[in-house]
Amino acid sequence: MDLEQPKKWKNNIMESQTSNIRQLPLAIKSNNEMIQEALSKGASRAKIILTKNIAVANWNRLQCQFGCQHYGKLHTCPPHSPTTDETAEILADYDKALLLYAEANRDMREIAVSLENSFKTKGFYKAFGMCSRPCDLCEICTIDTFCKYPEKARPTLQGCGIDVQRTVFINGWGDVSPNKPCADMQNIGMVLLD
Ligand code: SF4
Repeated sequence: MDLEQPKKWKNNIMESQTSNIRQLPLAIKSNNEMIQEALSKGASRAKIILTKNIAVANWNRLQCQFGCQHYGKLHTCPPHSPTTDETAEILADYDKALLLYAEANRDMREIAVSLENSFKTKGFYKAFGMCSRPCDLCEICTIDTFCKYPEKARPTLQGCGIDVQRTVFINGWGDVSPNKPCADMQNIGMVLLD
């Protein structure tokens, strides 16, 4: 009989408890810091979500093409933004994202890009921000040449094939988003993290 067995189990349990204790507060601390930073930059709500809980669908691009005045007129909208299939492949490179919501009068593009830049300096080198409103940085988009502000312009969530309505619903924010892509009231943002 191995008299050391109970001691080994105890040690294993202690190790596992120790590793839990070591990891969990760090993750919570890191999440809280990101959320607080998002709120300080103008978001009303922010939460860390898993990218597997981001819904992608083709129907929004159909609505972009047939019904939206921005289609083909902005570098950040279809058909120039990543397709739904490309977005699904891109999302597979990430595990987590910061989901954002702000009041209609806040510039979500600015908030998301500012967070992206900040998170990059903190080690999240893949960070990438997006928002649900079409780019409005230029009076007329230089669609025939190059984007004038590539460091600030970002593709719209729905233009990339992200089902914004379903994504916020899945992640517990069904109350914040009317189903009107590009509408002022649908002021949703996201920063892909790692
Ligand atoms: S920054 Fe200007 S050029 Fe670039 S996508 Fe926005 S409107 Fe177009």
